[in-house]
Amino acid sequence: MELNATNSPFNEQQTELLNRLLPGLNGYQRVWLSGYLSALPASETAQGSGISASAGSAPAAEPAPASVPGASAAAAVQSEAPREATVLFGSQTGNGSGLAKKLAKRLEDLNVKADVLSMADFKPNNLKKLQNLLIVVSTHGEGDPPDNAIAFHEFLHGKRAPKLDGLRYSVLALGDTSYEFFCQTGKDFDKRLEELGASRFADRADCDVDFDETAGEWMAAVTEALSGSAGASQPASEDSAPLSADPVSDYSRSNPFRAEVLENLNLNGRGSARETRHLELSLEGSGLTYEPGDSLGVYPENHPRLVDEIIAEMDWNPDEIVPTGKYDSAALREALHYYYEITVLTKPLLEHAAKLVGSEELAALTAPDSAEKLRAYLGDHDLLDLLRDYGFKGRSAIEVTGILRKLPPRLYSIASSPQATPDEVHLTVRTVRYACGGRDRYGVCSVQMAERLEPGDSLPVFVQHNPNFKLPENPDTPIIMIGPGTGVAPFRSFLAEREETGAEGKSWLFFGDQHFSTDFLYQTEWQRWIKDGVLTKMDVAFSRDTEEKVYVQHRMLEKSKELYEWIANGAALYVCGDEKNMAHDVHLALETILAQEGGLSPEDASEYVLNLQREKRYQRDVY
Ligand code: NAP
Repeated sequence: MELNATNSPFNEQQTELLNRLLPGLNGYQRVWLSGYLSALPASETAQGSGISASAGSAPAAEPAPASVPGASAAAAVQSEAPREATVLFGSQTGNGSGLAKKLAKRLEDLNVKADVLSMADFKPNNLKKLQNLLIVVSTHGEGDPPDNAIAFHEFLHGKRAPKLDGLRYSVLALGDTSYEFFCQTGKDFDKRLEELGASRFADRADCDVDFDETAGEWMAAVTEALSGSAGASQPASEDSAPLSADPVSDYSRSNPFRAEVLENLNLNGRGSARETRHLELSLEGSGLTYEPGDSLGVYPENHPRLVDEIIAEMDWNPDEIVPTGKYDSAALREALHYYYEITVLTKPLLEHAAKLVGSEELAALTAPDSAEKLRAYLGDHDLLDLLRDYGFKGRSAIEVTGILRKLPPRLYSIASSPQATPDEVHLTVRTVRYACGGRDRYGVCSVQMAERLEPGDSLPVFVQHNPNFKLPENPDTPIIMIGPGTGVAPFRSFLAEREETGAEGKSWLFFGDQHFSTDFLYQTEWQRWIKDGVLTKMDVAFSRDTEEKVYVQHRMLEKSKELYEWIANGAALYVCGDEKNMAHDVHLALETILAQEGGLSPEDASEYVLNLQREKRYQRDVY
């Protein structure tokens, strides 16, 4: 409701200011503000208003709740009996664990004792002892839990799951609306806990890739509910940065650093069907730090050709100003180039689009019984197709951009070691190009890197820390690395780091790609590392050099006895690359090797692999 001088105690100038400010506040900011105002001493609140705190149209002031940082808040929450909460996270790329730790810190600041731990480290038998459970979990692939959530997810959905009548809980689900099973793992946990008798004290929140706002609102709701005081949810002032802020650097997902391109090479030889860029970027002056296993987030730009095709198709004026955020705007061409996602369609976008153009056909495509048709449409269509297929002619640029998603950053596994090349970060990126529906299609970021990025240019980047893909702490631990295609990127980082730090543990790399002569990424570097003893063994699978395809898992099975011995002697296993096919097949090969060489039943082999995962001796960076 818009404020005016007759429905509020404010004069015209004040209502104008408030009407400008309030609609733009997110839920978290609103809760913070209300807590802040109610915690101000009454005399201060009433100052200058000419009314006492208990008079006039405003409700009488309650004693200040624990809602502001500092002494008054602390004093108020101190007087309450301490409460307890357990924050469990399941996280593949590090977002979930980062959010869970920030949540625990906020709870601690409010005198709620908060334990935070990975689902892999949580003993499910302790579930019945908990009062309050907060789950922060991401979803991968076809609605699967992240690796460190698999065992807990299985337990909770199995026969041994206990009744949880006394438990209160809430779930924060992380996901990506461009995937069919958006936030599925979070939904699973939410539903299952309810089935087991637990009571949901705050609604589940489902976050898209741009999670800051939704996650912030959920945190506000749960911290408020757990600390028992309205507005008690804001972070201490020193921690009021966006949730995605980097703990060390000023630069983060919400404030990317413009990294200068130092090198941009094609790693594939002449005649290859593939193009793989090796990029070297400078982090000098950014304060950004990373470790092997971390990823680099890159904000890409859409292809100008596609932007122009969309504008021409719709007869729009490229210079028309359109909103790009709550307070920002830009010329249409610029907005489509830098700001909006135009190559990927999502179900929510189609739902909004159906309403916008009043298309029953499009609405039917998003209905529950059309899942297969929807999957097919989303799989090979982009915004230009949508505009052409469903009668958007005549719709304004403001209407259409109003339903688009913000262009999300791309994450690439870092291929360099900060020890070996300080202030630099290297990436290994496959260029994605294909034709579909009579048009050329481009991978947004990879084609920008291949066609429109030269040394001296810069890219907006941030570091995505990934605690779930890390070298063993003990440098003597043997490592087995499986990384076909660009999945080999982090293993270049691992070996560069181990060389630089003089780690003595043995290492074994499985690499695969299409052809030996043109696609052997970083061939000379592996050879040098083998010669210098940094890399102990390497097995390669070039899939298209022989009549029958040979993949990395075939090489693993050929070496099953030796591989089993390495694992039995404590080696840590790492898999990076394609999730859908490769990682799945490699996982099965691993179970086969353990069953065959260790004399285990298939069930025991699966349990062995789960245990490796729990012990962080089997880590995957797959998508
Ligand atoms: P790719 O398409 O995975 O191809 C690499 C090799 O793997 C080819 O020889 C391919 O053979 C083979 N292959 C195909 N199916 C396989 C299977 N089921 N099991 C084992 N090997 C199989 O290579 P890419 O284009 O570099 O893609 C790598 C994947 O890793 C992408 O999905 C990418 O998103 C992901 N990824 C990249 C990074 C990064 O930062 N660079 C990090 C993590 C994940 P054929 O082509 O002959 O079938």
